[in-house]
Amino acid sequence: MQKRALVVGLGIAGMSAAIGLRRAGWTPVVVERAAERRTGGYFIFLFPEGVQAAADLGIADHLHTRNPDWRPGGNSWSVDRRGRRKPALGLLDVPSGQAAVLRGDIEAALWQSISGDGTGDSVEVRFATTPVEITEGTDGVQVLLEDAGTGKQYREDFDLVVGADGMRSSMRRMMFGPDEDYMVNWKAMICAFQLKEQVPTYQESDSIIVARPRRAMWVFGLDDHAPCAWLTYRTEDIPDRFAGESIEQVRAVFAGMEDDPVVRHVLDSLEQAPEHVFDSIHQVKMPRWSAGRVVLVGDAAWCMNTYSAMGSSSSLRGGAALGVALRENPDDLAAALNSWEKGLRPYITRQQRSARMKQQRFVPSNRAVDVLRSVVLEAIRKIVHRRMTARFAASAAPVPSVTAR
Ligand SMILES: Cc1cc2nc3c(=O)[nH]c(=O)nc-3n(C[C@H](O)[C@H](O)[C@H](O)COP(=O)(O)OP(=O)(O)OC[C@H]3O[C@@H](n4cnc5c(N)ncnc54)[C@H](O)[C@@H]3O)c2cc1C
Repeated sequence: MQKRALVVGLGIAGMSAAIGLRRAGWTPVVVERAAERRTGGYFIFLFPEGVQAAADLGIADHLHTRNPDWRPGGNSWSVDRRGRRKPALGLLDVPSGQAAVLRGDIEAALWQSISGDGTGDSVEVRFATTPVEITEGTDGVQVLLEDAGTGKQYREDFDLVVGADGMRSSMRRMMFGPDEDYMVNWKAMICAFQLKEQVPTYQESDSIIVARPRRAMWVFGLDDHAPCAWLTYRTEDIPDRFAGESIEQVRAVFAGMEDDPVVRHVLDSLEQAPEHVFDSIHQVKMPRWSAGRVVLVGDAAWCMNTYSAMGSSSSLRGGAALGVALRENPDDLAAALNSWEKGLRPYITRQQRSARMKQQRFVPSNRAVDVLRSVVLEAIRKIVHRRMTARFAASAAPVPSVTAR
């Protein structure tokens, strides 16, 4: 008989794990707290590891990417204190195989696979459903599930439970302990949303950076979609940050900068945006991602945070790798989970460590770092720009014609 796994959460990690499990010959059942599948979402860089994992999961062909074409002169600009724009090194300017997507693009590609892709091989998904209690026995796990629509509770048996319910995971709380034991507070906030229109006088695919010590605003230009805004700031008083209206709090952080047309446009757009993400920034650090027949994946297990820009890539990779480990150890769950964690942990640790350095690029901690950052990025930009210009010229050069004699 096929083994059954309960996957909690229909995000990137949950769907990747479900596809991995199905490929390993398991029957996954996904439960999602929300009443329906979410769409949209913010801008995401998918690094080569994530692109490779998407291919491993068989969803690469469904993944819609939105990288703008590179233009001579570059597509990225930084705005200085006097409002002058200068060419800058944007995150997509370095040609290293990363894809520009929306979170919804990755989830849509995963969903196509989950829902059967027309083959009839779909994964069972129950919306508005959450686990309330988990009891582990010798042969399996019994889960008490609650349907939020009807309020009905029922028990069901599984061979494995996969917690993929995000950074503030209730599965982690239920099975491993309180948030304070695992969530490391980075004393910083993030606000992300889609702009209705590009900042006036900039081209649609332009990226714009307004970075100052402790506060920064990035606009990411895309190929076939309105740009996305990403605002971040460092702060000591996280708990108070959730007290009032998020838009007022963000406005207060950028007070004194509204004379800049970029800042003004982005803050006004935030007020009109139908939805935005506003959250504190943490990393999740756990000494072990599984206990018995319960395993955590994605942000629930190792949230690297937005500065790392590796959360989606690692969620895809984690789900794909879990499937491989289960396939290679069909009769030994403990060995499968050990081998999965042993293979994945060095990569996750590396990415979590490098996030601190990346944070300085996104939002410098003080004036000195800001100056140093500008000098280093400008030096790299010049090298990249020279290479890209040569590459662009080579690709645009006419192909020499061969005349028969
Ligand atoms: C602004 C921002 C920018 C980012 N930029 C990047 C980037 O450039 N590159 C990158 O790789 N990553 C980026 N990330 C990180 C990336 O989005 C996440 O790492 C990734 O989406 C994590 O997916 P997840 O499935 O683990 O969690 P989530 O996306 O949080 O999904 C969890 C799911 O579980 C559901 N759920 C929660 N509790 C329960 C419950 N009790 N029962 C049932 N279901 C439940 C939720 O409704 C949700 O559907 C960014 C994140 C943010 C916020």
